[in-house]
Amino acid sequence: MDLLNTLVDKGLRRESPTREEALAVLATSDDDLLDVVAAAGKVRRHWFGRRVKLNYLVNLKSGLCPEDCSYCSQRLGSRAEILKYTWLKPDQASAAAAAGVSGGAKRVCLVASGRGPTDRDVDRVSDTIRAIKEQNESVEVCACLGLLSDGQAERLREAGADAYNHNLNTSESTYGDITTTHTYADRVDTVNKAHAAGLSACSGLIAGMGESDEDLVDVVFSLRELDPDSVPVNFLIPMEGTPLADEWHLTPQRCLRILAMTRFVCPDVEVRIAGGREVHLRTMQPLALHLANSVFLGDYLTSEGQAGHADLEMIADAGFEVEGAGEVTLPEHRASVRGGGCGSHEDGGCGSHAGADGAAGGTGGCGSHAGGGVCAPAPASAPVRTAEEPRTDLVAVRRRGAGTDLAPNA
Ligand code: SF4
Repeated sequence: MDLLNTLVDKGLRRESPTREEALAVLATSDDDLLDVVAAAGKVRRHWFGRRVKLNYLVNLKSGLCPEDCSYCSQRLGSRAEILKYTWLKPDQASAAAAAGVSGGAKRVCLVASGRGPTDRDVDRVSDTIRAIKEQNESVEVCACLGLLSDGQAERLREAGADAYNHNLNTSESTYGDITTTHTYADRVDTVNKAHAAGLSACSGLIAGMGESDEDLVDVVFSLRELDPDSVPVNFLIPMEGTPLADEWHLTPQRCLRILAMTRFVCPDVEVRIAGGREVHLRTMQPLALHLANSVFLGDYLTSEGQAGHADLEMIADAGFEVEGAGEVTLPEHRASVRGGGCGSHEDGGCGSHAGADGAAGGTGGCGSHAGGGVCAPAPASAPVRTAEEPRTDLVAVRRRGAGTDLAPNA
């Protein structure tokens, strides 16, 4: 297919596809799906080999948020029966992080619900970052605390944070339909603050909220312009008790096309499969490893993922390898002099970022805060289902790990 040859050539040159080409990827037929995966897989392997980076979420503060992000189980007025707790103490957060690291994670993502941190909150998180780094100097720490005020990104950087996450989530034109308590521009501003402070910016999207193909292409091109080092792709987990509980639009095939389009638009960036992979990709998860080079290990913020050992087995069975602590995630032209796999932001790999203040914020965390995951396996006698059928049975609220007395899934 000429389209795919063109996209591979552009991806190997870090050249942007046109909007029409990106839309064409989303419009490909199921008959062409394996060709799309193979083409995007060439770009993925060129920049990241067969390595898969594991990231581990620690929900520092869960629920009771004053913001109204429609997709989020922690939002104002959420009736989702999630865990609700206030700030974990540094030693509690550090213990949770250690479980993820011992499971193979090289990045720990510290997430807190809320519009944004107070200066006292930044102090708390700084203490937590130091506690984690004391235990394991080489672990990457990403903070995801919502909208940042002036100076807060610098303080997190000084405390040892490597990265900051804040997701754009959806296109600028539809952002107001998803959230009314803050704006798309607020989110862009926070990603730019993270960039300016020398933090590796992480910013992504949530697919499956009823958006159009044009919206998906818009948000991924906006991300390219912001030039984050990592782009988490969340697939909406329609949690009971949230306004989007009935939005079941995704199929495994659709998820693969979205990941392929993201890879073509951001070829040399860490593309992460975030919340919802178990619910929406289901048995097709291993194919997605040909597109993304990064996943979350174990559970999400407010929902459970598949068992950590199942993640590791899936990666091995699919012929990929877990990225080691000593390996640099990003290609050389993006890799940071700080080491540890965070990117430099200085040479515009994915996106121009020239003259623009970058911004982004919140993979799997605040910004997406899309927890997601599966748990309960279908019984052996389960009926045959179609790819379009909503799998509400695969959504399980997290009841273990941070904020509980039960061992974490890692
Ligand atoms: S995504 Fe973050 S800011 Fe929005 S409601 Fe959830 S916790 Fe609050």
